[in-house]
Amino acid sequence: MTSEDLKRTINRIDGRGYKAYKDIKGQYAFGPYTLIIDHVQGDPFAAPSRVRVRLPLDKTEFPRDLWSNRVRRIALCDYLARRFHGAIRRWAKGNRGMGKSGLVAIDRGEQEILERTAVVIDREDLEVRFVVGLPAAGRTILGKEALGVFFEDIPRIVEESLVYRRIDPQEIGQHVAVAEDQDAMRGLLKDKGLVAFVADGSILPRSSGVDERPLGSGAVPFQGPPELEVELEPPHRGSIRGMGIPQGVTLIVGGGFHGKSTLLDAVERGVYNHVPGDGREYVVTDGAAVKIRAEDGRRIEKVNISPFITNLPFGKDTVRFSSDDASGSTSQATNIMEALEMGARVLLIDEDTSATNFMVRDARMQELVAKAKEPITPFVDKVRPLCADAGVSTILVMGGAGDYFDVADTVIMMDSYRPHCVTEQAREIAQKHASCRADEGGDGFGEVTPRRPLRGGFNPSRGKREVKIDAKGLKTILYGTTAIDLSYLEQLVDRSQTRAIGLMIHYYAEHYLEQSTSLKEGMELVMRDIEERGLDCLLPYTVGDLTMPRPCEVAGAINRMRTLQVK
Ligand code: ADP
Ligand code: MG
Repeated sequence: MTSEDLKRTINRIDGRGYKAYKDIKGQYAFGPYTLIIDHVQGDPFAAPSRVRVRLPLDKTEFPRDLWSNRVRRIALCDYLARRFHGAIRRWAKGNRGMGKSGLVAIDRGEQEILERTAVVIDREDLEVRFVVGLPAAGRTILGKEALGVFFEDIPRIVEESLVYRRIDPQEIGQHVAVAEDQDAMRGLLKDKGLVAFVADGSILPRSSGVDERPLGSGAVPFQGPPELEVELEPPHRGSIRGMGIPQGVTLIVGGGFHGKSTLLDAVERGVYNHVPGDGREYVVTDGAAVKIRAEDGRRIEKVNISPFITNLPFGKDTVRFSSDDASGSTSQATNIMEALEMGARVLLIDEDTSATNFMVRDARMQELVAKAKEPITPFVDKVRPLCADAGVSTILVMGGAGDYFDVADTVIMMDSYRPHCVTEQAREIAQKHASCRADEGGDGFGEVTPRRPLRGGFNPSRGKREVKIDAKGLKTILYGTTAIDLSYLEQLVDRSQTRAIGLMIHYYAEHYLEQSTSLKEGMELVMRDIEERGLDCLLPYTVGDLTMPRPCEVAGAINRMRTLQVK
């Protein structure tokens, strides 16, 4: 059908009941692009209608090298989603009736450059997916306003955002280059013996606790200490200097309010690529770095936490430890063991969000409470074996307990937002004032036990629907009737990731639950399918609001299901 057909249909249904909008479903040739109306909403207040615009890439005139590999393709699509969003703000009239009438919206993401379904490149076509609020007054179709959306707003938005000669080549090239550089830098870490890198000049503090944009004024740019200076050479930027955080055990110390947590937060987010101007676009971290925290109240299903906790009162099992209401220490031990089970290579821990009795047990306490009476082996006694046996590094913010001086390879002190390397001083102090603690770590770290979830824990049905999975904001998934609380998965950054995780749990349950020997293998198989076929393989129809999560966050969600059963 052509755009003329759409015009005729809209004129025909003008003034009729809202249901008649169903007649505009279909594909329409609009000169350079095809408009596809996939789904029509039930009323002007319901979730808006799903629409796509598709056009051959050669018509857009984008130079081929902007999408010639995976990271470039993701960055180009990310840029176009942002640009499309900007054009919506300029050209969509917006208010064209009641409820969502006239709304045009695209899922463009925030500070991270991530694979998302809002803009996809499919063979030789570029496809942009967005939503439209079909205009109405009450339940009466406002045809003239609908014509305005499809024949004025959208053509202008498309023209401004998807045609190469309307775009600043510098800006789009920069977006792609910055993303590719971040990937390249992340790839260089291992050979340099690093787990993270923070470029000099980076802006780490965020605008506020609820706003991830950079702090506007008064931010002190990052300047690394000479002892930890490293130079990386990403392909576009060339040489870039900054602080390398080496493999091993790294402590971040310093007085309260001196920027310790801010540094760790930036490192935590360094697993993702950031947009130019974010301030953290040259802060990169090993992609298998996992933030660990205490999470009392969480559910635990048969996790082997025996490296940290043994001899619970009344002989409770800690090799297959389960709890419906975990304590601070057992939850933190579980979060570590589950991360290791998924192949974490770096643990990120902040004293602000840790259980004290999990982190340390000083000499005086050791004397008063005998080891035989204390089920917990504190992290301070396991952090070295973890590194030596399992090759897992730790970055730890610790302003309160000098007992960690004995086990640290690197000590960074934050002083008025400036890092200093104080490894030598910390060593001298550790010798001068011996901690007098006994090492309780035993020999070796202990076992990481893979687990295999059972079918019984996965039931996505709710009411009359066989499969009903919703995401509520960033932090909650409703899988069937099971609410999954993701509040403490701190590296989850985008609500479209949350949506994708809900669907990935279902995909895993449908395809790989029985076919894989462990949760880790199951996640790898799910990720492999998505890498091959895109996030679109999660649903039988196309949507524009899914974003790629990391496998450890998907596993993290499964591990927090209150219904989970493990073999
Ligand atoms: P700590 O963990 O050492 O107590 P935080 O990292 O929480 O300190 O930082 C304290 C405050 O200082 C926060 O409000 C943060 O936004 C701000 N801040 C951190 N780093 C910088 C910086 N480089 N420039 C300006 N403000 C900063
Ligand atoms: Mg702090």
